[in-house]
Formats: sequence, structure tokens, C-alpha cells
Amino acid sequence: MVDIAECPDIERQALAINPAKTCQPIGAVYAALGIHGCMPHSHGSQGCASYLRMHLSRHFREPIITTTSSFTEGQVVFGGSGNLKMALKNLIHIYKPEVVGVHTTCSAETIGDDVPGIVEEMRRAGELPEDVKVFCASTPSYVGSHITGFANMVKAAVDAFAENGEAAEAVNVLPGFVSPSDAREIKRILKIMGTEVVVLPDVSGVIDAPMTGELKLYQEGGTKIEEIERMGASKATIALGREAGNAAGMALATNFQVPLEVLPVPIGIDNVDALLMRLSAVMGKPIPKELEEERGRLVDMMLDAHAHWYGKKVAIFGDPDVTEALTGFCVSMGMEPEHVLTGTRSKDWKAAVTMIAPKATVVDDSDLFMLHRLIKRNPVDLLIGNSYGKYIARSEGIPLIRVGFPITDRANLQHFPVVGYAGTAWLVERIGNTLLDWKEDRTPDYLVELIQ
Ligand code: SF4
Repeated sequence: MVDIAECPDIERQALAINPAKTCQPIGAVYAALGIHGCMPHSHGSQGCASYLRMHLSRHFREPIITTTSSFTEGQVVFGGSGNLKMALKNLIHIYKPEVVGVHTTCSAETIGDDVPGIVEEMRRAGELPEDVKVFCASTPSYVGSHITGFANMVKAAVDAFAENGEAAEAVNVLPGFVSPSDAREIKRILKIMGTEVVVLPDVSGVIDAPMTGELKLYQEGGTKIEEIERMGASKATIALGREAGNAAGMALATNFQVPLEVLPVPIGIDNVDALLMRLSAVMGKPIPKELEEERGRLVDMMLDAHAHWYGKKVAIFGDPDVTEALTGFCVSMGMEPEHVLTGTRSKDWKAAVTMIAPKATVVDDSDLFMLHRLIKRNPVDLLIGNSYGKYIARSEGIPLIRVGFPITDRANLQHFPVVGYAGTAWLVERIGNTLLDWKEDRTPDYLVELIQ
């Protein structure tokens, strides 16, 4: 990263330097992959599809399936309707999906292709097989971020498939843009709670499917269409994170009167407690002893590590829902969040984080150049965020805890959840011991203590 020590502070309106976000279709593809048997389709150029597949593959270290309408100059001028029709016919014939989740790209949105209209035209003309579902989300990348694209795709799935039905005991859970291991951990908690649940999207068992030696295009995981259909009759919806889950939750509330509760991502003891207490209230069931014991072990760990965290200044950046939860968690451990930054524009996020950490500089719709400037002005002991933070960490001589998306320079992290009591315990260990390692690496031999 450029050494910005001597750079003046510059007011910028139309220039991002090292963005703290990626493009809408990346979130849209990730959400579509969490639907069972779904082929994400990118209505745009091959370059868009290559970029978003590469970005997701670098994080998950797995092949990411996506087809493309393969725009060239002609489609950008005259419209991509013909290419979309041909692409849908080909991909259904060749890849045999149960569902196709079509998202748009910058060029498709700029020319104004009516994607739902084109799909409907094909359906009426009998050009789409009856047993293949196709749904569409508008995801122009010149507004919002990958979180906006994710939210738009989840809402599109609900709009397309949720139905009114006989009132059911199930609870809809919208886990937001979290890793497959986080989705799995959320499902484990729900199972212990004895909750009948529909999780949308459910990327566990899709992107982290086990290696079996058998090549499968569609894995066993993912939310089934029948489950999404039932969401309209559920008892309640719990969205974990406002930015990624609110849109779909609101659609279920508006169209089917399913009560919506928006809770923070369950990172940190307070947020996990909030989820369990809400579930307990909705289901009319007590919180099982198994989870109380997990909580007790976490409290013990937090007490043991507290002294190493206390008073440390931290900068946090990344996706809005996750950074909000991490800020609360750091405060609960006695840390002082100095800077919290996201690339997504959100006044609600800004207000919520400012409430949690009133002394912090809280910035939305910003970039890592800005974060670096802020850290230069008010140094911190620790940086928490994705791999792009490593250049700031190196420049400032501080440790980076890799949490969020994307993590492209460390293997396997996506397999360790950061949500729930178990995920929080992992964070407690990781942050506390990283701080100790960092301190010890800089301590002269004669001062190194055996006991910390
Ligand atoms: S052109 Fe737009 S949609 Fe395509 S990769 Fe770039 S930002 Fe994303």
C-alpha cells in the first residue's frame, strides 16, 4: 500500500481508493448459491461473471458456478434480450438446474433490459420447462455494495416463491451475508432450541460441501423451493442483520403478515442472548441447558482473557451487519473502538454503531484510504477486517484479525464460525492470543514472562 504518511487529507466525492466493498452481483450469486439446485446467472458480460466467480473462489477456495449472458458490444448497444433467452435455454439444457437465479450487472441495468419481462415472455412462449424455476433480481453495481446485491437476491427469492398457506409453527431465519460455517452454527443453535425453521439462504453444505471424490454440480445443501414457499405461513421472521436481511423480512411482513424482528448478527454474548431469548419468546420454549452451559463456558473464557483486551484501541472495517456486531463485542471485552468503517452506505448502520461506541469515528460509504488516514491521526492497537486490511496493518505495525469477506490470504478461516457462543469463543481466543503474541514478539528477551 502507498505510504500515505505525508498525504494531505483530501475531500473526495467521486473517487474511491481501495474500496471497502465489492459489487452487487457478488452478493447476488452468493445468495443464489444458498438455494438448493440453483444456478446463478449473470446477465451481463463474461468479464462480470469471471470477476465475481474469481472473487468468491478466492475467499472460499472452492469452484463457484455461475453462467453468463455473455454480452459483447452489440448487446450493450441493442439490448441483451436475445442473449438472455439463448443463455437460459442452453444452461437449462446443459446444466439441468432446478432453479435459476438471474441477476443483472451494470451494463444490463444501463441499457434497461426488462429481465423479469423477458423471462415471462419465454415462459408464455413455452420456452422454459415447467419444472425449472427462474427468478430475477435487479443488482446494478453502481449503487450499493455486495451486501445490497445479497439483500436484493434474497428478497427476489421470497417475492418469487413465498406463498400464503396454513399457519405453521416454523420461524424464518435470514442469516445474512455470513459464511457457510456461520449458517451451520446458526442451524445447530436452532436445532438445540427445538425450533422448526426455514433458513434463507442456507449456504452450508453448498460452498463447504465435503470432499467425496464425486463431482457434483449441485450439492445437497441449500434452501429448498418448497421451504421458501412455506415462508409466507411461518410464525415469525428473524433477520440477523439489518442490511442483508431487512428487505426480505419486510416483504414477508408486508405480503403475508409474518411478524419481522431484526436482530444483530449473533456475534458476542449480548447478541447471541438476544437471538435465543427472541426464539424462546416466539416458540414459548425455555432455553435448553446445553446452550446455557455453552454460554457459561464463554463467560469463563471472556473473564480469563479480559485483562489482555482491556483498554486496547481497535479499528474495525467491513460489511455493515458484521462490523456492527463486532463493535458491540469489542466494547463488551473492554476494548475501545476508535474507528469503524464500512463501504456500504447506511445511515441506520452509522446511528447504530455510534450508539454502541459513542467515542468512535464511524464512517459509512467509505474506503480503506480513509481508514488509513483515520488510523494515522488516531493510532490503534489492533485492526479487525478482511484481507485488504493487511497493508494498513503492515504499514502501521499493528496486528490484523481477519474476519469478514473477502479473506484471500489465509486458508480455512471460512470453516470456523464467528457467530453463536462457539464462534464468539473462537474470536475471544484469536484476538486475545494475537495481542499477546504481538506484545511478546516486541519484548526484549530479558523481559519475556512465562506466565501471562
Ligand atoms: S461491470 Fe459492474 S457488475 Fe460487472 S463486475 Fe464491474 S461493477 Fe460488477
